[in-house]
Amino acid sequence: MTKYCPFCGEALVDEAKFCKSCGKNLDNVNMESNIGPTGNTQPYSVPIAEKNHTLAIVLGYVFAIFIPLIGLIFGIYLLTRNDSENAKKHGKFVLILTFVIWAISFLLLMN
Ligand SMILES: [Zn+2]
Repeated sequence: MTKYCPFCGEALVDEAKFCKSCGKNLDNVNMESNIGPTGNTQPYSVPIAEKNHTLAIVLGYVFAIFIPLIGLIFGIYLLTRNDSENAKKHGKFVLILTFVIWAISFLLLMN
């Protein structure tokens, strides 16, 4: 008469509501497999999954320095990622960096 914690694999009694090893709420796990919202229990809000835009962020910085026009495109791309606050933040930096590099190269060309 045992079940196993889906989080840490600890053997538990069938009636266990919480894992005695890692403390995770096992009731929620069962409820998630039910179809349809129960509406009365949401102990924690599930955060929106942050999409991984690391490559675009890195490329954005690289292009911002070497090819500002493409850096600008990457900056706008990152800034419009509504699924990632991180991408938006870096998109802003990429755009700022792009304009700074642009301004510097413009000044250098003027001399
Ligand atoms: Zn556990």
